[in-house]
Amino acid sequence: LVARRVAVPVGPGTLADGTRIPLLANIGGPGEAAAALELGAEGIGLFRTELLFLGARTAPTVAEQQAEYARLFTICAGKRVVVRTLDAGSDKPLEFLPTGQEENPALGLRGIRATRVHESVLRDQLTAIAAADAETDADVWVMAPMVADADEAGYFVRLAREHGVRVAGVMAEVPSCALMAGQVLGIADFVSIGTNDLTQYTLAADRRLGSVASYADPWHPAVLRLVKMLGDAGVQSGRPVGVCGEAAADPMLAVVLVGLGATSLSMAPSAFDAVRTELRQHTLEHARALAVRALSASTPAEARAFVRE
Ligand code: PEP
Ligand code: MG
Repeated sequence: LVARRVAVPVGPGTLADGTRIPLLANIGGPGEAAAALELGAEGIGLFRTELLFLGARTAPTVAEQQAEYARLFTICAGKRVVVRTLDAGSDKPLEFLPTGQEENPALGLRGIRATRVHESVLRDQLTAIAAADAETDADVWVMAPMVADADEAGYFVRLAREHGVRVAGVMAEVPSCALMAGQVLGIADFVSIGTNDLTQYTLAADRRLGSVASYADPWHPAVLRLVKMLGDAGVQSGRPVGVCGEAAADPMLAVVLVGLGATSLSMAPSAFDAVRTELRQHTLEHARALAVRALSASTPAEARAFVRE
């Protein structure tokens, strides 16, 4: 008996016309990097650093962090690694970054807001990342989560540069960041769209609440319109606009995101094969045409149906 082999394309993320769309991995620690590269990751698009320190009582030292980051950068030598600064608060509480009692933690002190209040923790993290970058050969980019506008982007980018970070950007996961995309990309070197939170905040539906789970659909044309604003600002500024939320792992939606202007896609490595296969079926022109159709829908279901047609 001969097992039937299904031909799965390997290699980089590419559209039918040869346009390159790097496929990057979302990881929670250096231990996940080797497996991601084996599955074809062209780099790391989201390193959720807070996951390393979820159980920690006290803030990790610069030396402790530097060792972890250097381990990752060594595994990823020659490749892009996008490190996210601590995204504390709400669904990812960190004991050493207390946010106080909050009735609506998702709307509270989280992400850059929390590390701005506890700035020494952020400074230590940036110092550790820059030091690890200096001793290794990865292409290290650093971004802050939950940035709301250009003012906050400016705060982070200045602080990052002050600490020796070479490429400093922001995550777009708060609708205001997308609405101010032109100004944000006038300051940040790049943007990475976090569709999980962007969807949560656009639809005002807590991503952890089962009772409103049906709202949390990144195919919602309202979410896609915000992605388009970011994509357009990326084209105008000539700066990269990636996607690192779960939406990038949905093959058909990945094509739409590219059509809206996404220049890279970061996802759980298990999604690479399906997304890579789908991307190869479409030219950039076709992806843009599908994006226009999705944008014209009035519901997520309609957007899906329009694109499937
Ligand atoms: C997101 O919000 O889409 C994202 C990638 O960040 P996280 O899921 O870690 O909040
Ligand atoms: Mg997020």
